[in-house]
Amino acid sequence: MNIALIAHDKKKQDIIEFCIAYKDILGEHQLFATGTTGKRIQEATNLPIHRFQSGPLGGDQQIGAMIANEEMDMVIFFRDPLTSQPHEPDVSALMRLCDVHLIPLVTNIAAAEIVIRGLERGDFSWREIVKQKKESNK
Ligand code: PGA
Repeated sequence: MNIALIAHDKKKQDIIEFCIAYKDILGEHQLFATGTTGKRIQEATNLPIHRFQSGPLGGDQQIGAMIANEEMDMVIFFRDPLTSQPHEPDVSALMRLCDVHLIPLVTNIAAAEIVIRGLERGDFSWREIVKQKKESNK
């Protein structure tokens, strides 16, 4: 499964701790992240992560493009609800695309703890069927 990891600045420590705690599960999947989030997670965990641009420079939109192409299976996005972001329109667009394409999206650590257990159990293997369907429609 392709998993996107994003965290606003005040939530970066949370996502690092989350990735350390669930490194074994995350390590079985292909990981993608916005620039700074990816760098910080990589430094803390050594997990291989494909890093896009930093969020404010277009990283959220790059992840959005993968969602639009049915190439992203899950988005773990630790948002900071108390700080306004210069790239708020990109953030909204990313979340909207998750809803359009029915991509599991979690926006805080409490939900992420539940979803990661589901991931471990195989609850999201239906995503493989979606991707196979897309391939056969080509
Ligand atoms: P960053 O971007 O990982 O490059 O900090 C995250 C964001 O703010 O969208």
